[in-house]
Amino acid sequence: ASDAQRALDAGADLLHVDIMDGHFVPNLSMGPAVCGAVHHHLPEAVLDVHLMVSDPAAYLEPFAQAGANHLTVHAEVVDDPAAMVSRIHALGCTAGLAINPDTPVDVMIDAGEAFDLLLVMSVHPGFSGQRFIESVCEKTQALRSHFGPQAWIQMDGGVGPATAAQARAAGCNVLVSASAIYGADAPQAAISQIRGIA
Ligand code: ZN
Repeated sequence: ASDAQRALDAGADLLHVDIMDGHFVPNLSMGPAVCGAVHHHLPEAVLDVHLMVSDPAAYLEPFAQAGANHLTVHAEVVDDPAAMVSRIHALGCTAGLAINPDTPVDVMIDAGEAFDLLLVMSVHPGFSGQRFIESVCEKTQALRSHFGPQAWIQMDGGVGPATAAQARAAGCNVLVSASAIYGADAPQAAISQIRGIA
C-alpha cells in the first residue's frame, strides 16, 4: 500500500495490476485477495486489472468484487469478444482488449471497436523489467489511425523515460510503467518524463 500510495502521490493516474496464472504466462502473480487489499487501503485509486490468464471469464467477477474498475482480457484467449465486453460492463467495469507482441494487429482491428481500451504488449508478458520491443509501435500507429483520436491505446512493458517518447509518438495515450517508477529515486520526475512534460 505504501509503494502504491507513493506512485499515486508522484502523479500516477491509475494502478495497473498484472495478474498472471502460470499458464497463459510462465509466472504467477497475485489474485483477487491482493487486489482487494489494495482497494481496501486505497479505495480512491483506479484499479486497472490486466488479466494475463488462460480463462479470463472465470476471473471477471472475483476481480470486480475485489474493487477492479477496469478489466483487460487477452485476444489470444477470447473466443467471443462482444460477449466478453457485455459481461465486463455488466459487472460495472470498463473493458480492455490486449494483444501480445506476436499477435497480429488485425485481430484487434476486427474485435476492438466494442472495447473501452486497447492494450498492445511491448514485451512478451510474464516478467517485469524486460526490454521494450520497438516494432510494436507499428501496431499502435495502425490502431490510432483506425480507431481515431478518442481511443484509449495503452502500451505495457519496458516503458520508461527512455522509451515513452516512442510510445507517445506511435499513438499511445495510456502508458504502463513498473520498474521505471517503483525503481526510481525520484518517481515524480520519472512520471513527468514518461508523460513528456519534463
Ligand atoms: Zn500489464
